[in-house]
Amino acid sequence: DESLFLPTNSSLSITLDKFYTTTTVKFCDHLSEDIFVLDGHIGSQEDTLKITRFLNLLRKISGKNQYAMIKSTNKVPTAAGFASSASGYAALTAAAVKSIGLDLSLKELTRIARQGSGSASRSIHGGFVEWFRGEKEDGSDSFAQPISEGDGWDISILSALLTSKPKKVLSREGMKRTVETSPFYSAWLSEVEKDFLIAKKAIEKRDFEMLGMVTERNALKMHATTLGANPPFMYWQGATIDVMELIQELRSSGIQAYYTIDAGPNVKILCEPKDEQLVKDALISLPVVRNVHISHPGPGISYLSEQK
Ligand code: ADP
Repeated sequence: DESLFLPTNSSLSITLDKFYTTTTVKFCDHLSEDIFVLDGHIGSQEDTLKITRFLNLLRKISGKNQYAMIKSTNKVPTAAGFASSASGYAALTAAAVKSIGLDLSLKELTRIARQGSGSASRSIHGGFVEWFRGEKEDGSDSFAQPISEGDGWDISILSALLTSKPKKVLSREGMKRTVETSPFYSAWLSEVEKDFLIAKKAIEKRDFEMLGMVTERNALKMHATTLGANPPFMYWQGATIDVMELIQELRSSGIQAYYTIDAGPNVKILCEPKDEQLVKDALISLPVVRNVHISHPGPGISYLSEQK
């Protein structure tokens, strides 16, 4: 459901310590429209419109009609396949809800964040988080909650930024085309719930190999659906495959490292903290790798200040 942001399947993610967003929101009487400033620059019309639509939700719930000044800083690369939209909308939800004077539970915040960017629902919480698909048409049971068994489990997540060309197919457009035309999509749906349960089990047992294997397998299945779309497309570029091959080679030499790829060419690698430097060095040695960020599970939203 594209208006309520209701997904076809449940999902699981890790909130990272190094990739985050700081956002301030101030509703004012004298503004005649919302103003969005990202990293010191006025946001694009399209990004600002998205924010206005999102804030309209809160204006409706609270009964207040003021426009807002939103200032945001991303400590995550923006629009590069590293989920700046999840980070950005989680921060925006927390700040805007407080600023407009609503007092909502974390569960309610996840339901609201979901309507700005689906993945933002998970980023409200820290660590390992699940987002339930839900069954109800109004979306009231589609929310995110932490997987408590993952509490304190330190694993490393490396984000490899590649020397890639801009995406030919944008995520939302690609997803829509795949759902509508790929014969592999129904197979993906029956697989993804199974993989979700395996991933949860792996977190519960703190079984790193099990988590890594299911993460990689699941990513490959997702990308296979795009090859069946009409017209077909792929998010991978040559650089993506170079990294995938490297990780497979590291694994044959005994290093537990696994990759996952979102709707874009960049690659994320899971490994154990004892191996993170070695894996980073191996990645950096590839000419197609521009930069590697090492992160670990981090906290969810927090309030820096409650000053007026
Ligand atoms: P990514 O992989 O980084 O999530 P997307 O193209 O899916 O890339 O999303 C990028 C979009 O997310 C931006 O165009 C903007 O609309 C939104 N976004 C990113 N950062 C912020 C932020 N700090 N505050 C509000 N919206 C943001």
